[in-house]
Amino acid sequence: MPPPIDMNRFEQIRASGDLPSPKGVALAVIRLTRQQDVSIAELARVISGDPAFVGRIIKAANGLLASSRRPVASVQDALMILGLPAVRTMVLGFSLLSNHRHGNCRGFDYNAFWNSSLAIGLAMQVFAERTRCGAPDELFSLGLLSRVGELSLATLYPFDYARVLDAARQANALPLVVLEQEEFALSHVELTGAMLADWGLPTVFVDAAGHAEIREGAEYPEAARLRLLVECMAAARCIAAICLADESARSAMMPRLLAAGARLRFNRENLLFDCDRIIRLWVEWGTLLQLEQKKAPSFSELAQGDPGELPGELGASDPAPAAQAPAEDPEPVRHIDPAHPRILIVDDEPRTRTSLRGVLEQGSFEVFEAGDGRQGMELALELQPQMMILDWDMPGMSGPELTRALRQTRVGQAIYIVLLTHQGDDERLIEAFDAGADDFVTKPVRPRVLSARLRAGLRVVRLQQELEREREEIRHFAAQLAVTNRRLQEAALTDALTGFPNRRYALDRVQQEWASASRWGRPLSCMIIDIDNFKQINDTYGHDVGDEVLRRAAEALRGALRGQDVICRTGGDEFLAICPETDLARALSCAERLRMALDSLALKAGEDRLPISGSIGVAMRVRGMVDVDALIKEADRGAYLAKQRGRNCIASVQSLEKTQELAPRDA
Ligand code: GH3
Ligand code: MG
Repeated sequence: MPPPIDMNRFEQIRASGDLPSPKGVALAVIRLTRQQDVSIAELARVISGDPAFVGRIIKAANGLLASSRRPVASVQDALMILGLPAVRTMVLGFSLLSNHRHGNCRGFDYNAFWNSSLAIGLAMQVFAERTRCGAPDELFSLGLLSRVGELSLATLYPFDYARVLDAARQANALPLVVLEQEEFALSHVELTGAMLADWGLPTVFVDAAGHAEIREGAEYPEAARLRLLVECMAAARCIAAICLADESARSAMMPRLLAAGARLRFNRENLLFDCDRIIRLWVEWGTLLQLEQKKAPSFSELAQGDPGELPGELGASDPAPAAQAPAEDPEPVRHIDPAHPRILIVDDEPRTRTSLRGVLEQGSFEVFEAGDGRQGMELALELQPQMMILDWDMPGMSGPELTRALRQTRVGQAIYIVLLTHQGDDERLIEAFDAGADDFVTKPVRPRVLSARLRAGLRVVRLQQELEREREEIRHFAAQLAVTNRRLQEAALTDALTGFPNRRYALDRVQQEWASASRWGRPLSCMIIDIDNFKQINDTYGHDVGDEVLRRAAEALRGALRGQDVICRTGGDEFLAICPETDLARALSCAERLRMALDSLALKAGEDRLPISGSIGVAMRVRGMVDVDALIKEADRGAYLAKQRGRNCIASVQSLEKTQELAPRDA
């Protein structure tokens, strides 16, 4: 059993306000979802205040839909699918991720932590579908938050926790939880449990998160659901550990995963299928959440080297703690390491460069040098340093000239530039700032002063980077939303079988045509076309043949209409044609053309010729007709009359004489 936390201690910590906690929009969402009578519309409005949440909530809802369903693209629809508890926890997780992407605890790998949490969340979601041990979306959130205690210790005690993590990495070290207890009288497992409970997650979830970590053989209770959750979590943690491991170490970790799968009674094929699905989701979500990820593993390939024999008794399948994540691949040059900002010195005097290098390296900068302005420009664009120190007087291109040139480029705009000069007069100072420099230092350089100025400059650089990251995130989601919205709009207004506009579009469109006709006093007609005895075709030849008949009938109708007419599929075998600028006489002759087009369709099912025909009701907008519904009803009555008259004919209830008189123009 995971030890219970001392609640007084937890209350104290919570009261300090230092625990990772949701902020801004997320906080508002969490408060709202606690109210009994919150409306979905209100919640959607609040969530829409943060584009990042919008994209993530919609993606989560779509991930839960069967592929046959139309994708969700509005926050409201996503909320209906996910439900309030899931939304609350999901928003909480995403908010923590946004606010704790980086932190001060050296040795705690924040990126690895979130990558692991994400993999656990997604694995829980996928396993929930297979085992039905919980709602997939709720288990996603549980997984995402299941290691929050580690993040909390790194946030609460950044320096001491770095030391504890270091100690845990030593050979023969005591387990991390023991070291944490010794140092803080508190372990990350207890803290996770207390925080999940505090956020209102169901008790069984809180227990599962604790047990999954302190799994000691058969010690945890046999309660069926808890047991299933714990085993799912153990397998999920195995998958996360493999995702974060070096490629060369992954195969050796497979037996553990296969054993965890066996405890869940998954057969090997299903487990590997699920794992590869989890990986695809992990990569997609990683991009969405802007996490840096290693090359994703293919579990099917990893398992090829494994004979599939299950090992005997195995311990818990822990993911590497964030602190113990294996060494990363060499970083690309442009990767920003917050602990070692890049700085480029451009000076033609080698001695100045060397002495500056000494000062800067003491300040943990990664230092690069260039001997003149041209080389400085090239290196700046290639290395994209966070800061540059430029000598004022250099042969070829002076410091201010180089500054101006840099400010013309996108990369150069983001660099913090300090100009060095022998003269400290006001004119030079003004010239430096006019050229676009951020700071100005006179020679001889006093190391402590320079270091202090650079530290101040770094604060500005970091704020700018943070801003840029947020902007980028917003741009990313806005673009994604625009695409989704466009697709949704199309999908929402189109009938998938025939490609015709659907009923929703039809009603809007006929309304528009009505408004235009009444404004300009122009004729407007419409027709309802219903296929005859269609049910019999379905019943005799099957639904697929029925679908094909509908497609072919739709083509025939489209071909027989004029360019300005609009045809929509408004029901199973029912179509609505809207004919602007058309009086009843012309509409009737048009309807006769449509009838003949259907009648002459020569379709066969095997040897049988399919008898296709349609009954068509025609109506025209006339004086006294109150609205568009009345027009459609009139056409409907015509279709009913045509059916009564024996089908395969056209009919209008409006008498020809009466309808020759156009409805008047609106005042
Ligand atoms: P009537 O001549 O009186 O119109 O008789 P009907 O058999 O055509 O009767 P009705 O119009 O009420 O039947 C429509 C049928 O269309 C019923 C439904 O099963 C079928 N249907 C609805 N949508 C689809 C579809 O997308 N594909 C297929 N194959 N059949 C559909
Ligand atoms: Mg019909």
